[in-house]
Amino acid sequence: MPVVKSHFTLAIKRPLTHDVYELVFDPSSPLDSRAGEYVIFDLAPGIKRAYSIAYRTESGAFAFIVKRVEWGAGSPILCGLEPGMSVPGMGPMGHFILRETDVSKCFIGTGTGFAPLYYQLLQSARLGYSAKMGFVFGVRSPDDVFYQDEVRTIGARFSEFVVQEYLSRSESPGFRKGYVTDFLTPETASQFEEFYLCGSPAMVKSAREKLAELEIPKERVFFEQY
Ligand SMILES: Cc1cc2nc3c(=O)[nH]c(=O)nc-3n(C[C@H](O)[C@H](O)[C@H](O)COP(=O)(O)OP(=O)(O)OC[C@H]3O[C@@H](n4cnc5c(N)ncnc54)[C@H](O)[C@@H]3O)c2cc1C
Repeated sequence: MPVVKSHFTLAIKRPLTHDVYELVFDPSSPLDSRAGEYVIFDLAPGIKRAYSIAYRTESGAFAFIVKRVEWGAGSPILCGLEPGMSVPGMGPMGHFILRETDVSKCFIGTGTGFAPLYYQLLQSARLGYSAKMGFVFGVRSPDDVFYQDEVRTIGARFSEFVVQEYLSRSESPGFRKGYVTDFLTPETASQFEEFYLCGSPAMVKSAREKLAELEIPKERVFFEQY
């Protein structure tokens, strides 16, 4: 798919947590995308940052889920945009692409690693897949949780859906205390054909090591880290 330079005009800005925003942009020209791809925004001279597409609307707008990193050079600029303002960008691009096959898939992520996994889950539903799906997501505390209802609404479209949310730094009803990698046991790993991982380098490394220990061939494991 050709990489295209466009301007992205902010249409909707919605806070999801104390430091995470959903930002929906209209590209200046129609763009196609595959689930798992990202766009590089040119936020200021010398400040280019990549953001995964969380979903594409029917009208061709792109939604992103962006954490405002307090001392960051780029994310405060993106999160500081208001509807009507635009930013140059390039893409969509990337290799962390959903394999479009109707086999069981387990999506495992932390923080804003949620975005590409959500797009991949949504695309699996849009393609009408019937295989079992798993969505395993981790954040620090209940204040950092978002999109719980949306994930369950999509999950209801599969024949079997497992959703599990983890909190690494606190306890709260309905959540497991611990790390997303705790989900991976011989029993759970044997239920899925493909594994999609996205989040911090430490989480992705730990999940890949655990999957290797569980003898999941690396050809069935796809990942992106940031
Ligand atoms: C392929 C790809 C896709 C990405 N998709 C997304 C996405 O969908 N949503 C998203 O929010 N980000 C995403 N990122 C990360 C994004 O590109 C920026 O790195 C991030 O927004 C921080 O940029 P910054 O300029 O604000 O901070 P910088 O000025 O680059 O960093 C400032 C400091 O903050 C630290 N830091 C960087 N990121 C975080 C973080 N998440 N939490 C805490 N501290 C941090 C850095 O280590 C550094 O010390 C993606 C990155 C890649 C490579």
